[in-house]
Amino acid sequence: MSVTSLPHTENQSAAESAPIPFFSQANAFRRLWPEIEARLREVADSGKFSHGAQVARLERRLAEYTGAAHVVGVNSGTDALILLLRACGLGDGAGVLVPAFTFVATATAIVHAGGRPQFTDIDPVTYGMCSDAAERAITSRTRAVMPVHLFDRMADVAAFTTLAAQHGLTLLEDSAEAIGMRRHGKHAGLHGAGGVLSFFPSKTLGALGDAGAVLTDDAGIAARVAALRHHGRPGATIGHFPAINTGSELAGVNSKMDDIQAAVLIAKLSILEQDIARRAELAAAYTERLTGVPGVRKVPGPVRDGRDDRDVRYVYVVEAEDRDGLASALAAAGIGTEVYYPVPLHLQPCFADLGHRPGDFPHAEEACRHTIALPLYPDLTIGDVDRVCAAIRRHYTGTTS
Ligand SMILES: *Cc1c(COP(=O)(O)O)cnc(C)c1O
Repeated sequence: MSVTSLPHTENQSAAESAPIPFFSQANAFRRLWPEIEARLREVADSGKFSHGAQVARLERRLAEYTGAAHVVGVNSGTDALILLLRACGLGDGAGVLVPAFTFVATATAIVHAGGRPQFTDIDPVTYGMCSDAAERAITSRTRAVMPVHLFDRMADVAAFTTLAAQHGLTLLEDSAEAIGMRRHGKHAGLHGAGGVLSFFPSKTLGALGDAGAVLTDDAGIAARVAALRHHGRPGATIGHFPAINTGSELAGVNSKMDDIQAAVLIAKLSILEQDIARRAELAAAYTERLTGVPGVRKVPGPVRDGRDDRDVRYVYVVEAEDRDGLASALAAAGIGTEVYYPVPLHLQPCFADLGHRPGDFPHAEEACRHTIALPLYPDLTIGDVDRVCAAIRRHYTGTTS
């Protein structure tokens, strides 16, 4: 890839009509390219292209950033969930409570680990799993609870910590979207047995392809994930894990992280805090412009932003009347949007065997009908936000003022 081939804005009038994609990181890459290029050369010269020195370095940097005792790099957020669940022994039909409104991988990971998802409804204000609903869903087979930190805020981890303790459940977090988020001074993913990070390109810390990691303070869980990601070979791991080679005890998989992804992520981690601050500015600009616009039923509420508690605007989601009509109108204006998530998990065909019906989780179903995510990434300008908001206003009122 050549830096000079990346698109850039020529002048003001081009900026006024240029499409606004749902996601882009072209500017971020242009800025970081010299550092990334040097690291990629190092990878090429090293002769070790996955599971090598860049991956070990990234794991150390992420441990510093999150405060996790152990960070284990794998090849996606989905694999991180599967291996974390397996490392916690949640197979053999173990029931794991999860929200019905989340990315499908939250629940398919449970199936792949050998467990059984138990869906619950969400809090309609925060979109996080509702702890009261989760408590009502507990059965004799329930062994774990896995809230998801969705969009721009953490689920109520204090409530889930109490719930897990009262019912003897393992607490895990699907913190795939939650890098940079903290509650009570503790990073997302570290409030129970462990959590995950996804580095899918559009995530707050995105790679140039797929990558993920497990976060945990538990040395045993970390060692098992480290073995599982590499064919179950306990010694054939990197970094701070012991170098013994006794053959495979666990039936592992190949979920090694590529060093080129680790190299990209190390460079991007160095500007993550700037990116998070930029996201907050852009989100505040959206909220200011969209509050009170007819047709926009709900804009995100304020998030926490303090020393011990911080949420991060990963995506900017509003609830809209005639959501699909709005998406089409914005697409016609060259503005990309995304619907996370159009179908609640309990109504997806792959979970038909769980026997759920429409109406089982009304808040999740309502969120699926009305939510729409607007473009939000550090490359975006306030002028872009103005254009998106003007197009939304025009769709509902026929005028931009
Ligand atoms: C992105 C995401 C995942 C999966 O991560 P991948 O890296 O894409 O495999 C899992 N759960 C949630 C909530 C996510 O947003």
